[in-house]
Amino acid sequence: MVIECKHVWDYISDYLDGTLSAEERETVQRHLEHCELCSAILDSTRNVIILTADDRVFELPAGFSDRLHARLDEELLNSNSS
Ligand SMILES: [Zn+2]
Repeated sequence: MVIECKHVWDYISDYLDGTLSAEERETVQRHLEHCELCSAILDSTRNVIILTADDRVFELPAGFSDRLHARLDEELLNSNSS
């Protein structure tokens, strides 16, 4: 099973939450091994979670997800047009 970056981004919060199935988890991990963009996104997402993890509530800052996806769309456009 091969997935695209956009699908990985949908999985990232569940991946970090540990709620993915074993198969989904492995698929994401395999993608991350060879995709620098998604690895960078995973790192920055993880940093946000660490900052907000004090009371064990998984909650991204307001608008974070929207901004993240907007940035990702931009990156994807840039990498496609280069
Ligand atoms: Zn990727």
